[in-house]
Amino acid sequence: MPSRTLEGAVAHRPHVARRRSRDGPQGARICCRGPRGPNDLPAVGAEEFGQRLARGADRPHGGAVRRSDVVELVATRSGAPLVGTRHEHPAGRTPREAFRRRTPRCRGRPHLRHQQDARQERRPSDAHELMVAPWPQVREGGTVLPIMDFRVPDELQALVDSYRSFLDREVRPVEERFALRLQEDELTDEIREEGLRLRRRSAELGFYAAHMPESVGGQGLSSLGYTLLVEAGAQTGYRFGAFTLGPPNPEAPNPILMDLPQHLHAKYVEPLVRGETTMCFALTEPEAGSDAQAIRTSAVQDDGHWVLNGRKHFITNGAGADVAIVFAVNDREKRAAGGITAFLVERDTPGFTVGKNQRTLAGDTNQAELIFDDCRVPGDNVIGEVGFGFGSAMKFLNGGRAFIGAMCVGVADYLLRITTEYAKQRTTFGKPIGKNQAVQWMLADSALEIHASRLMTYHLAWLVDEGGYPIKESSMVKLNNTEMVGRVADRAVQIWGGMGLLTEGPVERIYRLVRMLRVVEGASEIQRLIIARSLGL
Ligand SMILES: Cc1cc2nc3c(=O)[nH]c(=O)nc-3n(C[C@H](O)[C@H](O)[C@H](O)COP(=O)(O)OP(=O)(O)OC[C@H]3O[C@@H](n4cnc5c(N)ncnc54)[C@H](O)[C@@H]3O)c2cc1C
Repeated sequence: MPSRTLEGAVAHRPHVARRRSRDGPQGARICCRGPRGPNDLPAVGAEEFGQRLARGADRPHGGAVRRSDVVELVATRSGAPLVGTRHEHPAGRTPREAFRRRTPRCRGRPHLRHQQDARQERRPSDAHELMVAPWPQVREGGTVLPIMDFRVPDELQALVDSYRSFLDREVRPVEERFALRLQEDELTDEIREEGLRLRRRSAELGFYAAHMPESVGGQGLSSLGYTLLVEAGAQTGYRFGAFTLGPPNPEAPNPILMDLPQHLHAKYVEPLVRGETTMCFALTEPEAGSDAQAIRTSAVQDDGHWVLNGRKHFITNGAGADVAIVFAVNDREKRAAGGITAFLVERDTPGFTVGKNQRTLAGDTNQAELIFDDCRVPGDNVIGEVGFGFGSAMKFLNGGRAFIGAMCVGVADYLLRITTEYAKQRTTFGKPIGKNQAVQWMLADSALEIHASRLMTYHLAWLVDEGGYPIKESSMVKLNNTEMVGRVADRAVQIWGGMGLLTEGPVERIYRLVRMLRVVEGASEIQRLIIARSLGL
């Protein structure tokens, strides 16, 4: 793993580098623990000082470098150092105290306000400096190990900002226009048409199928990039927002389509990427849900075609899809190990009909039965290898887990935001309900869980971008985030009180919607099974 010098580490942190250039060569300073105060330290170049530190100079105990030797590598405006231990600082302030003292101590005691003001004037940015200062690990020779970087890359942040501005500019007005009808949970033709129009617009701008390869019109966006878009879309709480992005919506093109023969990409994949057509993913059957390899739909080869017979149910967008990815058994003995194949079936193929629509607790969420009765599919329409469709199905489901995770984080964040606002405004017994600890704790728990879930989700996206196939982490994110958003929604309903139960309020619908996520695309129990397997059980 490459190492950087201390100087390099400073330069690597743009905020520090900026201040360095403003403050001149004395801007960077290393502070040591020990009886000698940091004011005694020479303000030398960071690299030189790192080397001196490694040699034992400027350290009270000499010998090998200890991690505790290096407290902070900071940039200071006037040469006044920041320190990590009480006895080093003239004011006897530890970092913890620096944070604590940002809270005005004069609240309710106006006579102390001038002291507070004076203190703030003396050291205006202590806490900020401590927060942003890097924490290098020094090795012999004055080099530092790279630190873990949790920041979202600037390019991706710019993409997210641009997507947010599209939502604000073009989606919000539509959302407001349909606000009343959206409350009815009805997916009317007019609403769907409007949604599809926004989808095409989003595709035009490069957001909708950005996760697809450039060769078929996508942007080849990283998993982290798409994860951030999904989170940003869900944070708005807009229902039309769901139309503007692909996964986790199974209507959208999926990378497994790239396993179709090359000459079919222009016919099937590119229109999907442009948002001109939609698809569905047909795996589940009445007798095979969690145990997907128990599907019974059969595929028999006949004169260059495959003949499908069977029935699927719960298929999202089954009624409206232009093409369906259908999984069928071509070898009953082998099943998941070489006996299930994935086919692309066009809507108008003879023998393919749509059965009844299936409504869920969240209203019309667009599920339907699909019936295959001697449905003849061209031999070319096999996705990937004959017999290896089960792997494609798992790839489809696994590949989207970071996106489901991101959707949960975004929705939970939206709920936290509107519920915190409500808790500040809703008054009972003469004060806002948010002043009660019982309510504060619910919101604090939600904030905590959202933060943890976000980190897990970004980590999963990062693993995927690193080229891994992280099955365990995918299951962990699906399990954790779908259950997390359920708890956040439950607390939101509680805090909104009666308004939380009314269909005209903003949280009741989401409460019902997120309940479904613990079942679809692999129920929570199945995710636990997968995680348990990774433990060797
Ligand atoms: C809104 C919605 C959209 C959907 N969209 C699609 C779609 O687009 N395409 C598609 O193919 N499918 C879709 N599905 C189907 C969905 O993936 C299945 O409902 C899900 O996989 C669960 O299958 P099941 O309903 O048959 O439940 P079952 O498999 O019958 O399971 C019932 C319960 O038993 C538990 N269970 C099962 N086996 C075990 C075990 N070994 N150990 C412990 N507990 C177990 C399950 O976790 C669950 O709680 C959708 C479903 C819904 C509701």
